[in-house]
Amino acid sequence: MRRMEKIEEVVIVGAGVSGLGTALGLHRKGIRSLVLESSDSLRAAGFAILTWPNAWKALDVLGVGDFLRETHVLLQRLVINSATTGEVIAERTFSRGEQRLNLEVRSLKRNLLLEALSKDLPPETIRFSSKVVYIEEVGKLKLLHLADGSTLKTKVLIGCDGVNSVVAKWLGLRPLLFSGRSASRGILNAPQSSISRRRLIEYFFGEAFRAGISHCDEDTIYWFFTWYPSNQAEKEAEENPQKIRELILSKLKSSKMPKDVIEIIENSDLSNGLVSAPLRFRWPFDLLWGNICKDNACVAGDAFHPMTPDLGQEVALLLKMLLCLLDAWVKHLQEMETRQRKKSLRKLRRD
Ligand SMILES: Cc1cc2nc3c(=O)[nH]c(=O)nc-3n(C[C@H](O)[C@H](O)[C@H](O)COP(=O)(O)OP(=O)(O)OC[C@H]3O[C@@H](n4cnc5c(N)ncnc54)[C@H](O)[C@@H]3O)c2cc1C
Repeated sequence: MRRMEKIEEVVIVGAGVSGLGTALGLHRKGIRSLVLESSDSLRAAGFAILTWPNAWKALDVLGVGDFLRETHVLLQRLVINSATTGEVIAERTFSRGEQRLNLEVRSLKRNLLLEALSKDLPPETIRFSSKVVYIEEVGKLKLLHLADGSTLKTKVLIGCDGVNSVVAKWLGLRPLLFSGRSASRGILNAPQSSISRRRLIEYFFGEAFRAGISHCDEDTIYWFFTWYPSNQAEKEAEENPQKIRELILSKLKSSKMPKDVIEIIENSDLSNGLVSAPLRFRWPFDLLWGNICKDNACVAGDAFHPMTPDLGQEVALLLKMLLCLLDAWVKHLQEMETRQRKKSLRKLRRD
């Protein structure tokens, strides 16, 4: 007798913020999904994410806001500085002590965000070491080919597989554009540091670079550095954690950066994987004119609309967009189910 191949209802490719957010949103609406992740565990690359009030609204809808509030400090101020003159350019107050002034801003540790989004998912929702390499259409289903040679059929396919998305490629979306800039990020565990008690986000605008620090919790400081690699040696340094740190420090030390901020980068642990990555984005007209969905397949998150990190709004927008998409998907899935039920009834009557 021929064994029937199991057909999945919903497959999500990628277990990043958007993949897990989608799976959790569907789960809260009573829809089971399977998440295929190419890595062998959740990837916390990127260290931390600044979250503004719009992100908190989305996190609350997904039911993970309070879990994350417990482990991350409320940031009190944003300070924007010129690294050329050393002057403060602008300041904004978000909160006083634990009192929010209508602006909830925190810097989330990426591993804790992924943990929050995955902890309520039913067991076996995420299948690790499952890299999708090729997609085929088989009637109305999508046949997914995995790197280990196995295949899997699904009724609905959602590509949350980041900037190198195979689903976006399959949909025919054009390749991403390089912004000309690269970014490096890191984290420092500094329980006793005076800087970690200041609870602020501080930006520094310098000559062809932008740097920033913020606090995740009492002990941890997140930093980032975006810059224009200007020659071959700088491009090559991107691959090497030691060289990239030297390059960042030389740029910071030749400008008017506070000494304690430079020390944060100087003391960051290289074994955490300090790297630099080119910043890419999708040309907005490609979203308007390209296929962001086809029948029962679509993309979300960075696979859909990757942005440069200038506004610190990527995850907020990604989550808000997910919630809108979720409503549309749930409606679509319910319509599909009703159509299927009617078809089975008609068949029963005929038989
Ligand atoms: C320097 C920098 C700073 C940033 N700072 C901020 C910030 O402060 N605030 C903010 O909101 N955002 C920030 N962002 C952006 C934010 O990190 C991204 O928008 C967000 O992580 C995208 O999530 P995602 O789930 O769509 O994609 P990803 O996080 O890239 O997740 C994709 C997942 O899919 C998996 N995958 C990929 N291909 C396959 C495949 N073929 N098969 C199976 N699995 C696959 C990957 O392993 C990965 O786990 C920053 C980005 C950069 C570069």
